[in-house]
Amino acid sequence: MEIVAAERFVKSLMRDNGLESLPFAWDRAVTSYGRTLFVRDRLTREVSAEKITLSKPLIPFLDTEQVHEIALHEIGHALAGYYAAHGPEWRSIVRQIGGNPQRTYDAVSLEDRAKVSKYVIRCATTDKIIAVRQRSTGMLYLCNCCGRPAKVIANR
Ligand SMILES: [Zn+2]
Ligand SMILES: [Zn+2]
Repeated sequence: MEIVAAERFVKSLMRDNGLESLPFAWDRAVTSYGRTLFVRDRLTREVSAEKITLSKPLIPFLDTEQVHEIALHEIGHALAGYYAAHGPEWRSIVRQIGGNPQRTYDAVSLEDRAKVSKYVIRCATTDKIIAVRQRSTGMLYLCNCCGRPAKVIANR
């Protein structure tokens, strides 16, 4: 889905579900499609949703139905609250707003993610992509298939 259309779509879903005052933003994640950030109030200690972010690199690989599902997943987090995590309360809210809390997403392949990631981690033996990352900090990978240290390749 195209970025501008996706942003308009997600904001309208947020509005439909009473979250018109919650900010929306793009992030650079390549390991998650969406996030709900929470903050703790210094005085009341209460935790509340701060904003919903979606992955700018990954959303263009997804169709409208998939973006819909991801948006409802995050809207569910904002409505259910931080402590609900992916538990029964969150699941029931996602169902109520028309989402599917069971679904997990392999929607974008590692090969496609590698195209939009800063770092690609490859098996030193087969050259197969093992993981993708946007930061290089602390990246030491042992390959699952051969047990050798994996190669970390910077894309740009
Ligand atoms: Zn979640
Ligand atoms: Zn390997």
